[in-house]
Amino acid sequence: MFDDLHEECGVFGISMESDSQDIIKNLYLGLFALQHRGQETCGIAYYKDNAIKTLKCEGLVSGEFFEKLPLGDQSCAGIGHVLYPAGGNSGIKSAQPLFFHCNKGEMAIAHNGNIPLANKIKTDLIKSGSIFQTTSDAEILVHMMSRIQGEDFDTALVDSLAKIRGAYSMVILHDDEIVAFRDPNGFHPLSYAQIPGGIVFSSETNAFDLLKATNWIDIEPGEVVFCKRGKIVKKQRFADKGRVAQCVFELVYFARPDSVVFGESVQQARARMGAMLARRMKVKPDIVISVPDSGNSAAIGFANEAKIPFEMGLIRNHYTGRTFIKPKQELRMEAVRIKLNPVKAIINGKSVAVVDDSLVRGTTSMQIIKMLRDAGAKEVHLFLSSPEIHHCCFYGVDTGTLEELISTKKTPAEIAEFIGADTVNFLALEDLKACLAKPNEYCYACFDGDYPTEV
Ligand code: SF4
Repeated sequence: MFDDLHEECGVFGISMESDSQDIIKNLYLGLFALQHRGQETCGIAYYKDNAIKTLKCEGLVSGEFFEKLPLGDQSCAGIGHVLYPAGGNSGIKSAQPLFFHCNKGEMAIAHNGNIPLANKIKTDLIKSGSIFQTTSDAEILVHMMSRIQGEDFDTALVDSLAKIRGAYSMVILHDDEIVAFRDPNGFHPLSYAQIPGGIVFSSETNAFDLLKATNWIDIEPGEVVFCKRGKIVKKQRFADKGRVAQCVFELVYFARPDSVVFGESVQQARARMGAMLARRMKVKPDIVISVPDSGNSAAIGFANEAKIPFEMGLIRNHYTGRTFIKPKQELRMEAVRIKLNPVKAIINGKSVAVVDDSLVRGTTSMQIIKMLRDAGAKEVHLFLSSPEIHHCCFYGVDTGTLEELISTKKTPAEIAEFIGADTVNFLALEDLKACLAKPNEYCYACFDGDYPTEV
């Protein structure tokens, strides 16, 4: 659902054999491709004249950030970040990459994820003298590294990572070196690929397509990759391969359909989820529509399997940035109507199957269903390509509080009554697993409460 469940970030990095003006342009393109993962702030850090330079702005990559891009600067290494605000992270103060100067030298960090025990670790560090500047969990890593005496950057990093459990896919710029790693459970994606004369790192592979990067490889859970001057110089495990628990919502909702995440084509995985929903369907709708864009892929799979026409019954306005809605409370209340409009000629008099990815609070669905009723829908059946969310996420996905999760309080029939639908139909957890090539390598904790780490 476009305003209910949110990812926190996207990270990106480039390392080139030699200094080039292309780095800044390519960092921009990479972040542009990852914009769907965060629209609050964006930023880059790059190595120039033996120092790290940063540029961070609020808003979209194509906004003020683009205007300020130092396109004439030459560099051999840079990283970038887009942020979605969650857990107290918002505004320019939280923009990444974060820059640090410590006894391991200068470094900049871009982070995607969340460390569930961060507050406890922070409290311990503060008690023993650490001072934190931001609410980002990435800062914990720097404090841990700087406390390791007598070791170089690489060793201090690996030793510190071995002590941290949680969700973190990060890229670090340390002088002209880029270091990238995924936590031991591999919650969020991070891959690298080749471009002529260099290596690029990205949260999602759609950014590789834009840069014509080839031969991409997923960084393994618990693996750290060191890259210098356009070459991978070292790969190292910092934790034993334990339970792989990749966030299944990357496939259900967060990632772009043109990405390949955790070895799965996102588009195809979503189409399978939609087809599975159709197989379990107990009603007979006339048409299938999606809640764009998040429900599109599953709706196509649903319609194909059910042999019911897929129609563009809801049209999304793509020009409604956060800044348009944010300052005015009355506009925020109108957010759904501003973003979506039904096509009355298609909806009127029909029994409609509406396909979306998930149901979190139910408030957006309620407005959508009212819109469809007002457009003359005879029946509205809501299909969700994920199971009921019964638990909060502690790994970097903003699910809201337990109180806010509608499935903790109501059955599907009660939800249908609450939001005004004729029926509400969730994908069963076992059916979701059946849609995945390696179902045992995912986290499903927000559905079943089986958290892969201590929380
Ligand atoms: S709890 Fe849910 S949203 Fe969070 S990482 Fe696990 S599957 Fe993803």
